[in-house]
Amino acid sequence: MNSQLEGVVQKTAAPKENASTSGTIQSIPCFAAATGESLGEVAVLSPDKVKDAVARARIAQKKWAKSTFKQRRAVLNHILDYVLEHADELCELIVKDSGKTYENALLGEVMPICNKIKWLTKNAEKHLKPESVGSGILMHKKARIEYCPLGVVACIIPWNYPLQNIISSLTAPLMAGNAVLLKASEQVAFSSEKFQIITDQALEKEGFSKDTVQIINGFGDTGAALISAYVDKILFIGSVGNGRRIMRAAAEHLTPVVMELGGKDPMIICEDAHLEKAVHSALGGTFINLGQNCVAAERIIVMDGIYERFTSRLVEIASQFRQGIPTRGGNVDVGSLTSPIQIDIVEKLVDDAIEKGATVLVGGKRNKSLAGNFFPPTILADLTADMDIVSSEVFGPVMLLFKVKNDVEAVAVANDSELGLQASVITHDRKRGDRIAREIQAGGVCVNDFGLCYVNQDLPFGGTKYSGFGVMNGRDGLRAYTTPKAILTDRFPLEIPPELFPVSSHDYEISKNSMRLLFGRGIGLKITSLFHIIKLSIQSRFENRGSK
Ligand code: NAD
Repeated sequence: MNSQLEGVVQKTAAPKENASTSGTIQSIPCFAAATGESLGEVAVLSPDKVKDAVARARIAQKKWAKSTFKQRRAVLNHILDYVLEHADELCELIVKDSGKTYENALLGEVMPICNKIKWLTKNAEKHLKPESVGSGILMHKKARIEYCPLGVVACIIPWNYPLQNIISSLTAPLMAGNAVLLKASEQVAFSSEKFQIITDQALEKEGFSKDTVQIINGFGDTGAALISAYVDKILFIGSVGNGRRIMRAAAEHLTPVVMELGGKDPMIICEDAHLEKAVHSALGGTFINLGQNCVAAERIIVMDGIYERFTSRLVEIASQFRQGIPTRGGNVDVGSLTSPIQIDIVEKLVDDAIEKGATVLVGGKRNKSLAGNFFPPTILADLTADMDIVSSEVFGPVMLLFKVKNDVEAVAVANDSELGLQASVITHDRKRGDRIAREIQAGGVCVNDFGLCYVNQDLPFGGTKYSGFGVMNGRDGLRAYTTPKAILTDRFPLEIPPELFPVSSHDYEISKNSMRLLFGRGIGLKITSLFHIIKLSIQSRFENRGSK
């Protein structure tokens, strides 16, 4: 089992313990990813304080659960307004903390948040309002489903999109009437702590308690305390290994979980693809956010009819990538990795592949001349199954090239993974694209683009196999934060009381014929059954009278 699947339990840096009058407070030392500059410390919410936070959230949720959709939309729109108005400052924080470029901070973090809120404010009421359904054989009854809030939802999230992971995770449960306790990643505590103001100001403007949304900082033990504090649902976004730990802990209270875990996404390039489109889809798929993307296209599976042309153009562009400390104004194409732990994982996987015979077409070695977490965009070919990188999630800037003969082989390589998050296919032939998409084992497949299934908020987003279960986004991702309550009322009251007792000697036969009348196929069977019911009912009535 690879290290990524097992999850990272190690800390950013050793937590510090500071003596204070109220006891021992742990703090997270924070560093700028691209420069190594110290950014100070962020206090952690110690595990023993987590219960109190949950208790405050429960109180706040009582009022929030009664809010109208208009009020919920207003709160979300305040978040949207804030994010748009403060986009520059927010990007500044994100870039400092994560090492990513300003362009990526804006398009990969701010834009998806706006898109998500737009979708929720337009569609949430439609999907969450009481829904009338048929009443089946109970013709005298009316049936409806009410989507009731669950209570307190815990979100435990990773570090790769410091702002987006926070806001996109909390908005759906919030819109559904829940309070949210969100455990941010210790790797980006510097910025996470500052994002609390976004929800605080939005809730307060509409007269709701700030406790309705609480962003918690801490390490894995704070996350673990949140799970054992008895919440009503858990959204976990992170590694497979920690997903397993969280499921085990959640079983204690039978708390339902949504698992959004790792990926090793394939991108299939067919020989009929437009060359430039294919090359740029692959470059974007692998190197956006330096591959620290759960849906990064880590495995590029190329048909041999296009392999040479594709590879030479790919290498031509990738070898000219400018990497360095990001500043405003597009000075670099890619920044640094966010986490020092992650760069070690990437380096180990690449070294192992090279040692076992992989060919390095671009990159391949950590840039130790810079203080930050710099690993260059890397392209590897001639890969074999014994290399860990072929099966392990890299979650870094490494593209793996596989040459295949045809569609069948391409799909076999794509499906040869224990992960199944997302995938893409690049082809000129629409039918072929559809066919391949159906055959790939993944939570979503994007034909002729990369990663856009996440952008389309009407689609569910999630994975199969070890990539997890349950979905974010779309109607199902929203209703996941509700209990569907069944309510059955009178369409018209039946004043005849059902006489269930005492049981009469004809009840069994009457019931059997009733079933044939209701469910039997063919008019002959229905007429005979009706005849029997009438006859048996009359007999039963006379017998009852005789016995009185
Ligand atoms: P991680 O599993 O190390 O940590 C995720 C979160 O879990 C952190 O906040 C961490 O503090 C917390 N945590 C750790 N141990 C815990 C425990 N025992 N109980 C409760 N909480 C605990 O993952 P990471 O390194 O932050 O993120 C990288 C992983 O996340 C990759 O595998 C990536 O593919 C995945 N990811 C998935 C998606 C998706 O939507 N499927 C999105 C982004 C990232």
